[in-house]
Amino acid sequence: MSATLTQPNPTSETWMPDSWRSFPFKQIPTYPDASALGVVENRLGTYPPLVFAGEVRRLRNHLAQAAQGKAFVLQGGPCAESFGEFKADIVRDTFRVLLQMAVVLTFGAKVPVIKLGRMAGQFAKPRSSDMETVDGVSLPSYRGDIINGPEFTPEARIPDPARMETGYFQSAGIQNLLRAFSRGGYANLHEVHRWNLGFVERSPLANRYRTMAERIGETLAFMQACGIDAASSAQVDETEFYTSHEALLLPYEQALTRVDSTSGEWYDCSAHFVWIGDRTRQPDGAHVEFLRGVRNPIGIKVGPTTSVEDIKRLTSILNPHNEAGRITLISRMGAEKIEQFLPPLMRAVKETGQPVTWISDPMHGNTISTGSKVKTRSFDAVMQEVKGFFAVCAAEGVPAGGVHLEMTGQNVTECVGGAQRLTEADLGDRYETFCDPRLNAEQSLELAFLIAEELTG
Ligand code: PEP
Ligand code: MN
Repeated sequence: MSATLTQPNPTSETWMPDSWRSFPFKQIPTYPDASALGVVENRLGTYPPLVFAGEVRRLRNHLAQAAQGKAFVLQGGPCAESFGEFKADIVRDTFRVLLQMAVVLTFGAKVPVIKLGRMAGQFAKPRSSDMETVDGVSLPSYRGDIINGPEFTPEARIPDPARMETGYFQSAGIQNLLRAFSRGGYANLHEVHRWNLGFVERSPLANRYRTMAERIGETLAFMQACGIDAASSAQVDETEFYTSHEALLLPYEQALTRVDSTSGEWYDCSAHFVWIGDRTRQPDGAHVEFLRGVRNPIGIKVGPTTSVEDIKRLTSILNPHNEAGRITLISRMGAEKIEQFLPPLMRAVKETGQPVTWISDPMHGNTISTGSKVKTRSFDAVMQEVKGFFAVCAAEGVPAGGVHLEMTGQNVTECVGGAQRLTEADLGDRYETFCDPRLNAEQSLELAFLIAEELTG
């Protein structure tokens, strides 16, 4: 009894963009030069927002549909974007693979697919250890390009506030390119389908995927013959593409938080959707405090250490008015654990009456280290977790709302398995990630075909 009485109740306090500062926080660095930090924060506070509140509301409405099984979320992109990869080709290739996956998933799920990039701002990384030791030398861990540098030198590892400004400008550049690709004709459905046919023919498992690709092709040809293309060219030539990242570096998120002139509400204008990581989701912590006051749709990573009590408190603090589309719960349990750990949490949320959207992150519970200490993930474990997620959703009577993937459009060798049968010995060829291992373009598409197969039954 006394325990509940002494717990702070964040909802009773006045929220402001900076109210998180009086709450305990994890994973946010201490900057050696506080005045330099203040100067950058002030400048960022005057810069234009990266997204517009109207778009954010639109995404929230789409996510509300996913909560009811009337839409399916495809959230994907690299674990961490890097300043050195600020290149059109890299953005284009990941965007293209996401579009290709979306076509396949639309066919499988028979509902609209909400495309949400882990892009245009996914620069800050939580770390399990504050220090990294190499050959007996210990330095502060790399925390993502928006905080410090990946080079293993004392200088690079010092948190530098100037990096926040670089992160902002790079996010603006990438956001601009994504808008251009989405609306400028690049996202044409027929073209995306042709890319998929190319993938199928190159795949060692072409026979397995060809039937579905042909059925999609026939459907598109039928639509064209009916004149649906001509009648609603926006549906065929354009797409809606939203951006997301982990809201980890709160000084940056606060600086991008603005009042929307239409509604008078606060929005974090650094991205359409932001999420709280598995390491920073303490109900009494700063990250939860910050996110409870912004009106963006928000994600919460839900791992095996999440308790029933935590999930109930988190959903009630972050969504006191039970709005659909506000909360997306991103399950990241691990293939072996999901069937044991997810059902009680799903039931607990159901009891609260919260209309949340449940999606599966089959990446973060399945990271393993090879004998030579390289982080990897197995394609089979990823697919097994997705299947486990669908099975739990079906058993609990909860719509399976989508997937959250770490992937890239590049032909990297970071995850083992898939039709190309990448092995541990192949990982050295093109291991390019700055953080966690990503599915490459072919593995991502293959996963989309397998998920679509599951969805069609
Ligand atoms: C991530 O999404 O890159 C991540 C760190 O995930 P989690 O918080 O679930 O570990
Ligand atoms: Mn990651």
